[in-house]
Amino acid sequence: MSQVGLDIVNENKMNWLQSMDLSFIFNLLIFLYMNTKGIIMRALDQFRLKTCMDFKTFPNGQVVSIGQNCYIIAIVEHELLHALGFWHEQSRYDRDEYVTIVYENILEGYQNNFNKYSENDTTTLGTPYDCYSVMHYSKDAFTNGNGSTIITKQPEFQDVFGQWLKISSNDVLKLN
Ligand SMILES: [Zn+2]
Repeated sequence: MSQVGLDIVNENKMNWLQSMDLSFIFNLLIFLYMNTKGIIMRALDQFRLKTCMDFKTFPNGQVVSIGQNCYIIAIVEHELLHALGFWHEQSRYDRDEYVTIVYENILEGYQNNFNKYSENDTTTLGTPYDCYSVMHYSKDAFTNGNGSTIITKQPEFQDVFGQWLKISSNDVLKLN
């Protein structure tokens, strides 16, 4: 790119920044921070309410009402469960009794996301296979566009799993 071209790019960037009201940017950042915090607090509350675990909150811990945003809460719960040592539900060694993984529909290079873990390395903690788990992928996870990557053996569960509405009762069982 020529020097002239670079100058034009830089000038456009400056004009865009200058056109933004600084207090607007500041308020936007505060808004994003408070909302993110609210979502995490609610995810932790789900754990606190339904399990014997507890999480420390900040001394001035303010919970901000953010309206229903189940999916984002479930993502936080999902990541927290990973942090606590949980694998994905469809990685259970007994998963083939409940779901079929459609490898030809998986995006090239992402097949290993559907690996199974052996009975020696993992435990189901005696819980049944759980289509409602926040740790279960959705039916179209990593699809290459040719169709679903996970199909349940019981058709009535096909549209249930991967909804990630909230932590399921079996997720809670495994925590306790
Ligand atoms: Zn995950």
